[in-house]
Amino acid sequence: MKEKLYEGKAKIIYDIGSADTFLLEFKDDATAFNAQKRGTISQKGPRNRDISAALFRYLEGKGVPTQYVESVGEREMVAKRLRMIPVEVVVRNIAAGSLAKRLGLAEGTPLKRTVLEFYYKDDSLGDPMVNEYHIRAMDWATQDEINAMSDMALKVNDCLSEHLKGHGLKLVDFKLEFGVDRDGRVILGDEISPDTCRFWDLKTNEKLDKDRFRQDLGGVEEAYTEVWRRLVTV
Ligand code: UDP
Repeated sequence: MKEKLYEGKAKIIYDIGSADTFLLEFKDDATAFNAQKRGTISQKGPRNRDISAALFRYLEGKGVPTQYVESVGEREMVAKRLRMIPVEVVVRNIAAGSLAKRLGLAEGTPLKRTVLEFYYKDDSLGDPMVNEYHIRAMDWATQDEINAMSDMALKVNDCLSEHLKGHGLKLVDFKLEFGVDRDGRVILGDEISPDTCRFWDLKTNEKLDKDRFRQDLGGVEEAYTEVWRRLVTV
């Protein structure tokens, strides 16, 4: 039994008759610029499922609780059922994307200190940037949950930056989403993939992520496959 609960831009959530878990299906659909640009990237779903699974497993080993349970089929993942916090946590090591634009920085400028940002997850508002005061005022998360998300995001950054470097990738920036389980624990959810991270080749700075789609650079499918090859098959 599999009943669709929610269809997002890149994933579908199914009820599988379990109180503790649901099924996430990773789609090939791609969107950018708040869904103004739409397309499909062949094999993106299977690649992102595998990359996310590998990175979630790696992070679990480092003591970061994640929603990952197991991979099933070609593009699905059994995941813990969580109450998702409607906040996107962005971590940045190098200026790119909206930060480069907003502060007038050249893309690729290293940041002297890691930058942490919060965005309210709401497509109709274009995911506005918010701070801890907004999150508290709107009751999207408690101060303890904000602290847990921040600590975990910085730990994920430290662990993943190191891990990816070993696979020839630079972690420029990325977005995380968190949920709360039945015991009130904050758990890392959603996905970690070339859709949600900027990965640059360590030596050449070649973009190996969704920026190839956003900026019409070509070689989109090849980039996802290259990240998959480095992180999943090696
Ligand atoms: N990001 C994401 N989902 C979003 C917005 C951003 O996964 O809705 C990721 C994006 O891939 C990048 C990081 O968060 O790795 C920072 O994105 P940025 O704020 O620069 O926005 P963008 O340039 O993607 O509009």
